[in-house]
Amino acid sequence: MATTMMLEQARAHLQQAQRIAVLTGAGISAESGIPTFRGAQGLWRNHRPEDLASPAAYARDPAMIWEWYLWRLEKVLHAQPNEAHYALVQLAQNKQLTLVTQNVDGLHTRAGSQAVLELHGNMTQSRCESCGNLDAIPHALLLEQRTIPHCSQCSQRARPNVVWFGENLPAAVLEHASEAFYHCDVALVIGTSGVVQPAASLALLAQDAGAVVIEINLEPTPLTARLDYALQTTASAGMRQLMAPPFIL
Ligand code: NAD
Ligand code: ZN
Repeated sequence: MATTMMLEQARAHLQQAQRIAVLTGAGISAESGIPTFRGAQGLWRNHRPEDLASPAAYARDPAMIWEWYLWRLEKVLHAQPNEAHYALVQLAQNKQLTLVTQNVDGLHTRAGSQAVLELHGNMTQSRCESCGNLDAIPHALLLEQRTIPHCSQCSQRARPNVVWFGENLPAAVLEHASEAFYHCDVALVIGTSGVVQPAASLALLAQDAGAVVIEINLEPTPLTARLDYALQTTASAGMRQLMAPPFIL
């Protein structure tokens, strides 16, 4: 738990910052009702997400993997962005803010954030396995057919447009994110376990380059001890505390 003085210091850094880089993980969407992978609710039919979100699992049983994504997508489409997503939209109004997310739920964009750097893709889209074309996943398919989507351009099979364990992150997106963390005055790391890379490397890149790094997480993470400030609370409460009046935007 951050002391009052630590909170005041973190607030002052955030307020004075010109460039802010933010990394969010599944924890920021937990209050929207979307389970994190590592919480008990992340399980699906007793499968661990790590065993489903992989190229090998998809090669073995694409229909089952699609069924899992459609189950998750249904939750996402019924969810709303929460206070923490909106706080980042507000913060971006008067700061040079780069928002990087590991989430695939599209909630930052739906809240109004612009130019979100999605490191792990977006689960509302399918990607053609043959020509790479992206399609929005149709609701009808989702609700009724429960079959594998096919490309609108070439009719070949499409996969979820997400990065699976063992796959590379989109290089240009990662480069843009790294630049933002390298050049920021303050980095915010919200609701990510710091286990899945590049969470840890982005935070430490910012810190090594002289930025102040503030973490908001319900629990301590492998990063917590190394960072400047850690607010052990929910994403929404953490953002509320950091931006409470008289925070001047
Ligand atoms: P994670 O599931 O590994 O960790 C979530 C972190 O959020 C934990 O450290 C937990 O303590 C914290 N947390 C939980 N509830 C919180 C709250 N209300 N406020 C603040 N913190 C909270 O998630 P991850 O590190 O993002 O990595 C898993 C990967 O799985 C992601 O990179 C993503 O690609 C994918 N994923 C995405 C979503 C999504 O899009 N919403 C959901 C689950 C998993
Ligand atoms: Zn195609």
